[in-house]
Amino acid sequence: MTHEIDLLLKGAFVVDPVNRINGIRDIAIAAGKIADVSRDISPALARQVKYLSGTTAIPGIIDSHVHASPLIGGFSAHKMLARAGVTTAFEVAGPVEGVWKMMAENGAGLNLLCIHAVAPGLTIEGNNPSRTALKKLLHNAVSKGAIGIKVLGGHLPLTPDATRRCIELARQEEKYCAFHAGTTRSGSNFDGFLEALDLAEGNRLHLAHINSYCRGQIKSSLSEASEAISALETHPHIFSESYLSPLNGTSGRMIDGQPFSKATPNSLKRFGYSPDFQGMKQAITDGVVSIMVEEGDETVLQTGSPAVRKWEAADTNLNVSFDINPADSRFLLATARNRDGRFTVDAIATDGGGIPRNVIVENGLALVDFKALTMADFVLKTSANPAAMLGLTQKGSLSVGADADITVLDLEKNRACMSLVGGRIVMVAGHVCGSGGTALVLPEGEKHARKLGLGVDTIDPDHLFQRLDPHGQIAAVNR
Ligand SMILES: [Zn+2]
Repeated sequence: MTHEIDLLLKGAFVVDPVNRINGIRDIAIAAGKIADVSRDISPALARQVKYLSGTTAIPGIIDSHVHASPLIGGFSAHKMLARAGVTTAFEVAGPVEGVWKMMAENGAGLNLLCIHAVAPGLTIEGNNPSRTALKKLLHNAVSKGAIGIKVLGGHLPLTPDATRRCIELARQEEKYCAFHAGTTRSGSNFDGFLEALDLAEGNRLHLAHINSYCRGQIKSSLSEASEAISALETHPHIFSESYLSPLNGTSGRMIDGQPFSKATPNSLKRFGYSPDFQGMKQAITDGVVSIMVEEGDETVLQTGSPAVRKWEAADTNLNVSFDINPADSRFLLATARNRDGRFTVDAIATDGGGIPRNVIVENGLALVDFKALTMADFVLKTSANPAAMLGLTQKGSLSVGADADITVLDLEKNRACMSLVGGRIVMVAGHVCGSGGTALVLPEGEKHARKLGLGVDTIDPDHLFQRLDPHGQIAAVNR
């Protein structure tokens, strides 16, 4: 007999808010797409069957803020994301060439989009680049497969004017723009957040990791989070995510005894250390800062004297992590909704990847256990909403014809136990079986991405920055 179905997932509890599914279903997959989701599909129709009773299947998790590049994240990122149940990730630093090379060599079969940083001293000259220089950078990045640009303000600030130019340019060119708040005028804190809202001037913008501006540096973390929520409500052209880990990630690199990243001194001072080489050394020794080192295909955190030796041996050029994100602002930003019931912060992301804090499932499901989110809310914030924001019209739901990207969850352990990308299993029980990956690019980047031998899927620029209503239907397109 002919098998119409390549793979049949039988008996999982399926949660898909876009299609209002919340119950036990079978999921049929054919040619990498969802062929059917219904109550009882005959195994005889399928070439392969997986019995998933007791698990929960959701549209594949889309992490809208990760690091998987040579600059930050490193080669473990893809495997770590796959083990965390992520099926699509958005790399938000670049450089774009390094991102694709890393995926080709160390991929886990995931989908990846990326943007290219406007980083003074690294990708562009000076902190006040002209519109012409920015346009050249943007076009070059997009032709290599980036969907737009990222202003790394908090770490490597531009002037406020140059930051405004980046946001406006990306909008005019119909490309993506993300911003880690902070300029030569404001830091990566609540003032920087407010400045970012002004600099956007009504242009659409992805404002990264809102919780990181609500760490209580200026007011209390609770006041900062509440005010951020109100401000986001009056700036609907701002799209955002927040993450759920207490850990941050920044550069431990020192140049002439001073931190290379503008975000690092804040963290050191916050814990009472001098913002310089000696302060960092002491903080690592005391266990207040952890260095990130690769072990096998995992990035791990280390502290104490052995960590100091590794940091010095690496010429201080290692990334580091402080336990600095207060629980109250993380909780509030992950769960806040407006009067219509729409989530104020569009997505739960991780700022993880190669930084060990891929806790969408672990901590996101803790919010479900706490009854702060329903399972449908969890899916909206980790799949449907980020899909809309990133223009991924074939993802974020299990609609017939959608990409068969699926995350299977074990709600007893609050862990992902299986994930599929385009109908192919890439992770089972923590074992990563996927390799390489699919680059999600704008039409201009297709040719280049194909040359690299990657899987390629195209994003229609008209679909960037969409937003769903509380029921998962397209509410608004921000142009
Ligand atoms: Zn980041």
